[in-house]
Amino acid sequence: MNCAKRAFICIMIMAVIFAGSSVPAHAGQSAEPAPRLDAFFLGTKGETGDFFLDMLNTMMKEHITWRQSFHPEDPQAISDKNLAAPEATDARKKLKEVLSTLSTRLQKGSNPWFSPRYLGHMSADLLVPGVIGYMAAMLYNSNNVVYEGGPATTEMELEVGLQLARLLGYNPEKAWGNITSGGTNANFQALWYARNLKSFPLAVKAVMPELVKGLNEQRLLNMPVSQSLDLLDKVKNSPRYETILKHTVKGKGVDPKKLGKLLVPQSRHYSWDKAADVFGIGSENIIAVPVDKNYRMDIEALDRTIAGLVKKKIPILAVVSVLGSTEEGAVDETHRIVALREKYARRGIGFYYHIDAAYGGYVRSMFIDGSGAFMSLAQVRKTARERYHISEAATWPQASVYDAYKAVPEADSVTIDCHKLGYIPYPAGAVVFKDKRILAVQTFHAAYVQDLRAQAPVSIGHYVLEGSKPGAAAAAAWTAHQVLPLNMDGYGRLLGRTIKTANMLYEAMAKAEPFQAQNGRTYKFVPLVKPDLNMVDYVLKEVGNPGLEAMNKLNQAIYDECSYVSGDLMKKDFITSKTVFSPAEYGNTPLDFVRKCGLGDAEWEKTPSVLVLRSTIMTPYLADEAEFASYFDRLVEIMKKVITKVGG
Ligand SMILES: *Cc1c(COP(=O)(O)O)cnc(C)c1O
Repeated sequence: MNCAKRAFICIMIMAVIFAGSSVPAHAGQSAEPAPRLDAFFLGTKGETGDFFLDMLNTMMKEHITWRQSFHPEDPQAISDKNLAAPEATDARKKLKEVLSTLSTRLQKGSNPWFSPRYLGHMSADLLVPGVIGYMAAMLYNSNNVVYEGGPATTEMELEVGLQLARLLGYNPEKAWGNITSGGTNANFQALWYARNLKSFPLAVKAVMPELVKGLNEQRLLNMPVSQSLDLLDKVKNSPRYETILKHTVKGKGVDPKKLGKLLVPQSRHYSWDKAADVFGIGSENIIAVPVDKNYRMDIEALDRTIAGLVKKKIPILAVVSVLGSTEEGAVDETHRIVALREKYARRGIGFYYHIDAAYGGYVRSMFIDGSGAFMSLAQVRKTARERYHISEAATWPQASVYDAYKAVPEADSVTIDCHKLGYIPYPAGAVVFKDKRILAVQTFHAAYVQDLRAQAPVSIGHYVLEGSKPGAAAAAAWTAHQVLPLNMDGYGRLLGRTIKTANMLYEAMAKAEPFQAQNGRTYKFVPLVKPDLNMVDYVLKEVGNPGLEAMNKLNQAIYDECSYVSGDLMKKDFITSKTVFSPAEYGNTPLDFVRKCGLGDAEWEKTPSVLVLRSTIMTPYLADEAEFASYFDRLVEIMKKVITKVGG
């Protein structure tokens, strides 16, 4: 048996053991016993380095063997003589030097994501299976734009798409998913489809009016997604199909600005604003729905917004909600949006519904048992307590978070990033559509129609915004998903750790006694909100100082000190990120927090901006309670030092 096969089988056996395991719950035990999980990380000190190097070496060697096994009778291309020449020796020496410079530059100017001292952006230590999967596949340099560019990795990409579909609760028989460069591109792709589908009934009316008899423009622009898809299905084999496509927004048919409003929460990722621009929808057609004091989309405000548009006969292009907002980790109430969609559908108002779960998507694995079933709230909470040891007091998940995750499969499409809570290297986001019939709305390309009819191998490039795209990303996600299944035994366990840690951090900050810095003044942590997932936003506040401006200044200074902004990243004691809430983006929502900080309303009027430190808790290394407690003590000491340094 060759080495690659052996390594592969070894990984598969591990996957089976892993998937089949059920670690008994030990009440009161602080550390989650998960050596299997630990085996998949390189560790803060490269603890699993030997295995990592061994596997890497195996995969690289296998690649070389692969080359040799392709027409072994062919002559070698590079002669031994050339390789022994002094110029070749010089060239290697030069490369060695450059690589050494590369290392130096990388080490000096990269964030130490792997360390629990890094609690900033959406990054942490990566899953070794993803890293090795990526590096191994990278050597084969497959390009998933067309099937022939990488048959193996194209198939993996489609498999990953269906794995994610299952994770999201979609029927994999009906769904479609593809990998993108990230959440931004996934959101672009979803809006691209939503926009083109919205214009489709109008195009049918222009070319085959008999199919939409009696429906005026208003009705056509409000056609529910499922009906539009039925219509699409009806005409896609018609000889006039391409003519219809040319009458959609893709061609001369429809002005994208007439397709209605794009409703997003204030907490949206800015990719939506970019997308509205690129697709000709225009920023004037974006409506930012306010968020509530938990930074979740305010559903009553959404309802009022929709009602107002209906009254004015303005169609709704799409509603977007967020599962794990970028700045707060907040989970919008998907289930209530689904209910609204049903309510308006009964009144003849249809709209596309997309969930941006770029960040929070993988957390759905915590709700799925080993058999693939979505668990009850009681079961999920029991698992959270007994398996992941998330404290009882955290009552995680809140019922609304549970309901939101449960309702995900009602959405028409979902963005989910493998390079965030999937812990694999960039670039790997994904978009998953509930009903793959939507693919037919996309292309002028006749070959595509051929593809669909002939069931030929799929060339992903027809359906996505990107052209050449790395097969390695698909291999990375595929490998990670093989060893860490997308349920409570796999990713659930990993994410359970991080949610446990986030709750411990929140509790510690909320309960910690104020501490005195060397300047003699007293400070305390104030967390923004109880985390829906694993992100904690917070400020440090001087006790007794009533100024919001002073508080912002202090936290800005802490950020400057605890980020790449100043000094040497390798010498940092702690690294964080930040975000700023201002009325332009968040209306009056931050006032609630301003009050929580003990500041008067007048302060918010005077200084309408709150700077908070933002810690994404992706580290898998802080889940042990004793270890966390000592970490938090050290964090307080670090803060004392930082405050002294920045002059509090
Ligand atoms: C990160 C994020 C995005 C963008 O994803 P990229 O992979 O950075 O392009 C979009 N939406 C949300 C909610 C995100 O958190």
